[in-house]
Amino acid sequence: MKFQEILSPARKHIALIAHDNQKEALTQWCLGHRASLEKHELFATGTTAQRLITETGLSVTAMLSGPLGGDQQIGAKICSAEIDILIFFWDPFEPMPHDPDVKALLRIAAVWNIPVACNQASADFLIRSTLMADEYSRLVPDYGSYISQRT
Ligand code: PGA
Repeated sequence: MKFQEILSPARKHIALIAHDNQKEALTQWCLGHRASLEKHELFATGTTAQRLITETGLSVTAMLSGPLGGDQQIGAKICSAEIDILIFFWDPFEPMPHDPDVKALLRIAAVWNIPVACNQASADFLIRSTLMADEYSRLVPDYGSYISQRT
């Protein structure tokens, strides 16, 4: 696999997702980091988005609800470099009907080399990183060379 560099902009596109038992934790986390989050563009799965908009006042673009395909919509945006960071408070104690989508989303985030936080402590480290305020060059699969090897 060959790789190429692409730039994550200083104003990051951040995806926010929380499973139902984690929505309160993500809402509180967003309230605590509201000033930092306001500097970036926010996206979320449907129910998470509605809750964040109502309870934090942040501007958030809503995808479909996770079980209806919202996780996959976020994954597609990661593939096309429209999401730079994933903050995903998934529930480690409950199986979900859309567990395959959750796994797929985490895999795609690894493939496209974006920072991922799956709990509050990781999200704290991420949001306080000095890299949040700057452009960041990250390595991603070189699709042109990948497809030419396969055709
Ligand atoms: P929701 O989806 O924000 O619509 O609840 C999150 C998820 O379950 O992936």
